[in-house]
Amino acid sequence: MKELENLKEKILKEYPRFGLQDKFCFECGPHVSCFNECCSDVNIFLTPYDVLRMRKALNLDSTTFLSKYTIVPIEKSQKLPVPLMKMDDSERKQCHFVDNEKGCTIYGDRPWPCRIYPVGSASPGETEVTQEQFYFLMEEEHCKGHEYSTEWTIEEWLKDQGTEPYAEFGELFKRVTLNPGFAAGKDLAPQQIDMYWTALYDLDKFRRFIFESSFLKRFEVDDDELDRIKNDDEELLRFGFKWILFSLFGEKRIKVKPEAEKWIKGKDVKPTGKND
Ligand code: SF4
Ligand code: SF4
Repeated sequence: MKELENLKEKILKEYPRFGLQDKFCFECGPHVSCFNECCSDVNIFLTPYDVLRMRKALNLDSTTFLSKYTIVPIEKSQKLPVPLMKMDDSERKQCHFVDNEKGCTIYGDRPWPCRIYPVGSASPGETEVTQEQFYFLMEEEHCKGHEYSTEWTIEEWLKDQGTEPYAEFGELFKRVTLNPGFAAGKDLAPQQIDMYWTALYDLDKFRRFIFESSFLKRFEVDDDELDRIKNDDEELLRFGFKWILFSLFGEKRIKVKPEAEKWIKGKDVKPTGKND
């Protein structure tokens, strides 16, 4: 994690900043001599939407995917847990999803960092209010894609790589991770961290929490929304963000039922599935 902090500092200080209309040259695919070189021994941190897409592509429930394919590095300075993709046990430490001939076997659902590479995005500010996003180019020695002359603007590249839904969920994620409460020194209790993990990453457990606990006796959710979150994981994740902004940061995004207000005061809400 220290390495990543140092890299972030270097990017902010030294890397040329690109805007959406700035251009670069790049090609990637089975024709490049370095095909798959970037799919081993690499740190890939996953957003909630990455996990949703990957585990659906693999037809796995969220709890199984997280335990089988991710680890969560623990750092004292970190406010929130972020899952890191596990590499396999081979000497090369390859990604579990790479096929030496075909490349990425979950290509349509590959996570954000794999998707936008060799472009990266960063924000100099510590909160959502102060951040101004910019793009930068990663030029690593092993990556020969930079030797080709196909020209892209950053905007064309992002569109070509199918980043649109990732951008929507990325904005929601920033509202949580760059919440002004953290810049003001807020720390979350273990139970709140557990809730964060459940509502944003472990969506099958979150769905059970909503439908199998007393949640719906205490919070107003209209029938249409309820129907959507029952059947659609993306809607469930949108609701998860609302719930986290409400339950951890006090934003008025969810309505408490009048009969439950007394109960809610001073009581934490646990994602156990049974919460009476
Ligand atoms: S998810 Fe796909 S693109 Fe990303 S490292 Fe693994 S095989 Fe490579
Ligand atoms: S190293 Fe670069 S060019 Fe080679 S496969 Fe990876 S992204 Fe493509």
